[in-house]
Amino acid sequence: MNARIKQIVDEVKDIKSFRLKPEQKLSYVAGQWMYVRLSTDLRHHFTISASPSEEFLQFTTKFRAESLYKQALWKKKEGDEVEVNGPFGSFVLDEKDTTPRLFIAGGIGITPFRSMIKYATDRQINLPITLLYSGKNTGEMAFISEFNVQSSMFSVWVIETVKEGRIDAKKIQDLVPDWRDRTWWVCGPPPMVEAMVELAQKMGVDANKLRSEEFTGY
Ligand SMILES: Cc1cc2nc3c(=O)[nH]c(=O)nc-3n(C[C@H](O)[C@H](O)[C@H](O)COP(=O)(O)OP(=O)(O)OC[C@H]3O[C@@H](n4cnc5c(N)ncnc54)[C@H](O)[C@@H]3O)c2cc1C
Repeated sequence: MNARIKQIVDEVKDIKSFRLKPEQKLSYVAGQWMYVRLSTDLRHHFTISASPSEEFLQFTTKFRAESLYKQALWKKKEGDEVEVNGPFGSFVLDEKDTTPRLFIAGGIGITPFRSMIKYATDRQINLPITLLYSGKNTGEMAFISEFNVQSSMFSVWVIETVKEGRIDAKKIQDLVPDWRDRTWWVCGPPPMVEAMVELAQKMGVDANKLRSEEFTGY
């Protein structure tokens, strides 16, 4: 169905969120994704970075100069239309499962976690979440200011890889002492997800406590 771009938000350098108003309401669960088609040849998957508790539908993405898709998207203006199709995906927040979570995001892989954290906060769901959010530097990482609240339910650790290196076993053990009791949720570009899944396996995390979503195309 068609969706009108209501607002384009500059999140950080080279990352924008596109807030949409679809022709009909698109019901989804926090963490799901949709297709966004700009023309016959230009279609990509995008996580819905909004939360079902919000009025608008939204996706968030990073500019890449070599990408025809991103070139076309960056030319779009408020009031233009795109086509959306969805929702899809099972990397989602199940409200009934209150097992503590460890979310590990690499760069733009923050989008499903932004949706889940916003939803859990807005609906006051009793769900302990620790977020490890890694990226080159904070100037290139979306939504950081939103996560600036530590509470008994939510804690966030931002890891700037240029200064601190990548997430490894020591960082996880130091920052998340109860990592064994949490289900692990990993999202980001494929090499990052593969590295984190391998790390989890080496640390002895059970396969049934480990979930991941790869953003193919990065
Ligand atoms: C479930 C899911 C959710 C996603 N959510 C987001 C999101 O929230 N935000 C976001 O920015 N991106 C998301 N992505 C990735 C997004 O769909 C694009 O692939 C990404 O933005 C790169 O697009 P591009 O136009 O910059 O690169 P492109 O120009 O499309 O491609 C870059 C490189 O990747 C290769 N490539 C492209 N697509 C694939 C593919 N499917 N498999 C293997 N190689 C491929 C190309 O050959 C090229 O070498 C998601 C992907 C998936 C699968």
